[in-house]
Amino acid sequence: MAPGIDGLPAAERDVDVSGPVARFLATTSPRVLTRLRLGLRAFEWLPFPWRFSRLDPAAQEDFLHRLERSRLSLHHDLLLMAKLFSTLGYAVTPQVQDRIGFEIGCARADGSLPEPAGSLGDTEPQGEGEECDVLIIGSGAGGAVAATELAEAGLDVLVLEAGGHYNRDNYPSDHLEAISELYRDAGLTIAEGRPPIPVPVAKVVGGTTVINSGTCFRAPDPVLEDWRQHFGISWAHDLDADFAEAEETLHVTQLDPERIGRNGQLAMEGAAAIGASGAPIFRNAGNCVQCSSCPFGCEIDAKRGMHVSYLPRAVAAGARVRAGVEAHRILVEDGRAVGVEAAVVIGSAIRSQLRPPAGTRSFTVRARRAVIVAGGALGTPELLQRSGLGGRHVGRNLHIHPACWVGARYDEEVRGWDGVMQSFYIDQWEHERVLLEATFTPLAFGGAWLLGAGRDHQRAMLDFGHVGSIGVHLCDQSSGKVGLGAEGSLRASYKLTAADARRLAFGIARAAEVHFAAGATEVYPNIARVGVLKPGDLAQFEATTFKPAELRLEAFHPMGTARMAADPGEGACGIDGAVHGTTDLYVADASLFPTSVGVNPMMTVIAFAKQVARGVAEERASSSSRQISSVS
Ligand SMILES: Cc1cc2nc3c(=O)[nH]c(=O)nc-3n(C[C@H](O)[C@H](O)[C@H](O)COP(=O)(O)OP(=O)(O)OC[C@H]3O[C@@H](n4cnc5c(N)ncnc54)[C@H](O)[C@@H]3O)c2cc1C
Ligand code: SF4
Repeated sequence: MAPGIDGLPAAERDVDVSGPVARFLATTSPRVLTRLRLGLRAFEWLPFPWRFSRLDPAAQEDFLHRLERSRLSLHHDLLLMAKLFSTLGYAVTPQVQDRIGFEIGCARADGSLPEPAGSLGDTEPQGEGEECDVLIIGSGAGGAVAATELAEAGLDVLVLEAGGHYNRDNYPSDHLEAISELYRDAGLTIAEGRPPIPVPVAKVVGGTTVINSGTCFRAPDPVLEDWRQHFGISWAHDLDADFAEAEETLHVTQLDPERIGRNGQLAMEGAAAIGASGAPIFRNAGNCVQCSSCPFGCEIDAKRGMHVSYLPRAVAAGARVRAGVEAHRILVEDGRAVGVEAAVVIGSAIRSQLRPPAGTRSFTVRARRAVIVAGGALGTPELLQRSGLGGRHVGRNLHIHPACWVGARYDEEVRGWDGVMQSFYIDQWEHERVLLEATFTPLAFGGAWLLGAGRDHQRAMLDFGHVGSIGVHLCDQSSGKVGLGAEGSLRASYKLTAADARRLAFGIARAAEVHFAAGATEVYPNIARVGVLKPGDLAQFEATTFKPAELRLEAFHPMGTARMAADPGEGACGIDGAVHGTTDLYVADASLFPTSVGVNPMMTVIAFAKQVARGVAEERASSSSRQISSVS
């Protein structure tokens, strides 16, 4: 795939690509691995009667070009998969990064290092016999905040987290290793459908907040009003104090337009030129100015993920956190949730399966008062379904904010990595359910989206410093579901409707308009049939109808799979987060959202978790006082 041109090394001959990629893939789950093997085998035999790997380099390149020009979306899917893995292995090598001039170096504006976060105490699993008042499964935005509220209310809280404990002292410096260590299934969780959509989520102490982009939005008022009116969430408009407290804890500040980096400034200039509304993003990384490596863990922990913000606070109030412990089943006695059956996985590759994998020891953890599930919108329905709890709404109503990367070439040098990863938003088209965010993706991921194959792709990589990019996010009405495969592993699927595909194409056109207004010479809409847009091509692009399967999408915001609704017939949980049908069992994470929230969801997850946890604390306080008064 990478023959080596103009100072770039040749894959395999000069740099080992297949070895690290094979090691990386070995850390994913057997189910994902089987699917990948099938895909790679299909790619290998596509030039039948020949095999791709046995073709000579010229024939390989010719074949790749034919795939690129093909009208079949299957060909594009296979080509993208091959580009994704080869680029992942190739782009992380120092030789490639040196030649392109790509470098990562996290920094704050004043060059200082953030204060060390408080301790998480002993995160080693304790095994059989551990007990607590409230057991929380998952330590992400929902779990960490619920733990803090409850520990500070005086309850004895235990948090179980399937992933390991990382921070700036030990994030893996190798990016492939970072992805395998910090993400569930090495980042290869995919919602099946047409198109298939990658939906990566983290598996680490602090959850997805450790690897997210740090963007902080409050939920939009019209969305909250919809949730109040149609789902009976009476408190939906009472979140201001919760948002304000979270903004203070997470040191949320608006970025300085002078220091966001050229990628964000181009989006800002383009938006201003066409009169579109927008602003520098509010983030939880204080005055960080540099680097675009958020998805690998912020190497100075400028970004206040849960592991360096709420979790230390919870631990200071007495909570215990256990890392590398996966809950496999919720234990229910007499209709009450009383704990979980869990397993510790020895080694770093912790895999999700119905039963604890070989090499693990399983044990039970008991909760005296309540169990709160906060495994995220994939992990929570998975655990509830495995436990046979929550009813028919569990796993349904998956929304994901499908997103498209719209790159563009500028004559000037952009060096998007010399700036903040996600930096400027444009909300002019919110009424069309579309939000644009200038987001610069690291070479290891962004490289795969560049046009071309073989030498052409290598030329595009050499030009990476001239690429600017904007992410198009859709507030989706399409939906999907999360279920369990035959062997008990997670299965997610998603059906993008034609209406949502049209809105995404509209968003792509608006991103292109912004790019051109900022001086881009060409735009890459990520639709194979179009390839490149030049100034003047937009009208024709907008007159074209694209099928959902033609779009190349990713999604970072799964939500809604245990939705909250006052009417038990409409959701899996009541408006206090209580799971229908089981006493003392709650959900406190992104699964609760009744519909797509439309903006980056972390702050809304936090606000919801606070509401649920406060309710649990109050309920416990009133039941204790009832018990005391009945004794006296
Ligand atoms: C690349 C990326 C960038 C993003 N950028 C932003 C952004 O800039 N701003 C924003 O608002 N949002 C962003 N998000 C989304 C945001 O981080 C999530 O919406 C939010 O973290 C969800 O919180 P949660 O508590 O529902 O789940 P998570 O934060 O995902 O936490 C769930 C945790 O539960 C653990 N878990 C799951 N099942 C089990 C089990 N059975 N036993 C034990 N532990 C379990 C998981 O390992 C995980 O650590 C981004 C997401 C991604 C992937
Ligand atoms: S851009 Fe992300 S990784 Fe880099 S310093 Fe800022 S928060 Fe940290």
